[in-house]
Amino acid sequence: MDLVESNYTDAVRAIENGEFTPHFQPLVDLRTGGLYGFELLARWYRPEQGWIPPDEFIPLAESDGWIDLLTRELLRKGCSALAALPGSLALSINISPVQLRNLSLPDEVQTIAAAAGFSTDRLIVEITESALADKVETARIIARAFKSMGARLALDDFGTGYSSLLHLQSLPFDELKVDRSFVGCMTEQRDSRKIVAAVVGLGQSLGLTTVAEGVETAEQAEMLRWMGCELGQGWLFGKPVPADGLTEAMEKCAQAATEHLPSSTMGGVSMGSLEGLPAQRLAQLQAVYDGAPVGLAFLDREMRYRNLNRRLANMNGRPMSEHLGRTVQEVMPEFLAQVEPFIRRALSGEAVSGVELTRPPAIPNGGTTILLSYEPARDEAGEVVGVSVAISDLTPIKQAQAAQRETEEHFRSMLELLPQIPWIIDAEGRALDVSQRWLELTGTEDDGWRGYGWMESLHPEDRQPTWDAMHRAFATGEPIDVIYRLRKSENEPWKRLRSRGRARFGEDGKVICWYGSIEEVAEPDCSQSGTAGMVRKRAD
Ligand code: C2E
Ligand code: CA
Ligand code: CA
Repeated sequence: MDLVESNYTDAVRAIENGEFTPHFQPLVDLRTGGLYGFELLARWYRPEQGWIPPDEFIPLAESDGWIDLLTRELLRKGCSALAALPGSLALSINISPVQLRNLSLPDEVQTIAAAAGFSTDRLIVEITESALADKVETARIIARAFKSMGARLALDDFGTGYSSLLHLQSLPFDELKVDRSFVGCMTEQRDSRKIVAAVVGLGQSLGLTTVAEGVETAEQAEMLRWMGCELGQGWLFGKPVPADGLTEAMEKCAQAATEHLPSSTMGGVSMGSLEGLPAQRLAQLQAVYDGAPVGLAFLDREMRYRNLNRRLANMNGRPMSEHLGRTVQEVMPEFLAQVEPFIRRALSGEAVSGVELTRPPAIPNGGTTILLSYEPARDEAGEVVGVSVAISDLTPIKQAQAAQRETEEHFRSMLELLPQIPWIIDAEGRALDVSQRWLELTGTEDDGWRGYGWMESLHPEDRQPTWDAMHRAFATGEPIDVIYRLRKSENEPWKRLRSRGRARFGEDGKVICWYGSIEEVAEPDCSQSGTAGMVRKRAD
């Protein structure tokens, strides 16, 4: 304070000389990254001393009686600066405790704002807790006057004063500013984190907008957003700037809002679309729980059921009430040995998924196969507080798979008995499937028939005519009908085969694949060679 040799006349002269200027610090919507407004902060530049911080001159202005003069000067400049900007950004102003004894303050503010063409419903009036220590009745009248002109009321530096909760009730506040001393160390200190979370929760339950001060890192912003804090202010979003830096500050915020769109996860906890207040999130979560097509449960660190949905209760063959508050061991002792290792892994922070287990016969629905996943759930301090369990019953799927396998087996056995040899080729003639009997007929092994491999088994003279005939069918979509020769080995005679197939068309009219079959046909009387080609075409 020794820096400032202050007395009233000195200060008045400094104000008249324009030594005081407003600086503006961005207030940002934490969820969208968009600019919400600016807080007006006083700066004093003394030609012989340089910049003097407000923490030094504000106490003097209060004690020497020139704080009202200073506030009017700053407000005038601040309102004109913001009125010149596009949009309707908010302007947050600081009012000293002593000023809350001055009943004409709201009128003075209104006059200044009107003169600057700045609407008072864009004003936020920040009051510190200490302002409320005495003369609460006067403060209440002033607060009401501000509210009646559409201004919002913010309780500044919340958490640093005394009997804060009492003050919260004494005036009709709209906003709660969490002091930067908590925000600054919230990512390192668990206690600070808990306090911030509690203040944000308190603000929300009272219907107040919560503003976090002193946000310096993206990590803090992300954590605050996750807690449901609406607004943020701090060096991360911008330092206080003079009026001629406002446009640049606005542009920087707009750019940051598009570049750093809030991510949707924090510490492994997915927010997804669960935006909004904790109460809303809770209701949404419960709806998700109840409507989920899988069994869901939340187990705490002692493996007690803290929540579960009806589907899981049904799966376990016990009412929900028999689960809640009880441990897995108490509810299903026979199953504990199988599931405990996975729960323990999740409790130590590991997400475990895709666990397939068969329920022991002794428990209800025993013998059924289930698929489990375990997801650690963390609190705002990042500590694992429990495990979210999801269980789907695989029995119907397993049964359906078995039934399908059985049907396929029947079908295959039947096909193998038919004299014809079925095949499937794609739209370009690559073989996708052939009967086992193709292998017997051609003496080939394994998957050699796949793709265009099947053509290798044809009589060399028949390959080109067969290929040409098939391509004519590919081009028109007309059925395939070709004859070619095959033999099992060099020592065996050639056999004549007729291959016929039909196209399967997609919705767009294009061929998806061809289904067909081959059968042995008798030798023609005339010749032994040159038989390949499209049968119908040849007959024409
Ligand atoms: P405040 O109202 O809590 O203002 C926020 C203070 O935090 C400002 O300090 C600001 O520069 C600083 N700050 C903002 N973001 C960060 C950050 O990310 N990290 C850190 N470490 N600090 C940050 P400033 O401007 O020095 O103001 C100090 C206090 O002086 C203000 O605290 C306010 O109580 C008072 N003050 C400033 N201007 C006025 C005024 O016009 N009238 C009255 N009555 N008081 C004022
Ligand atoms: Ca303030
Ligand atoms: Ca503050």
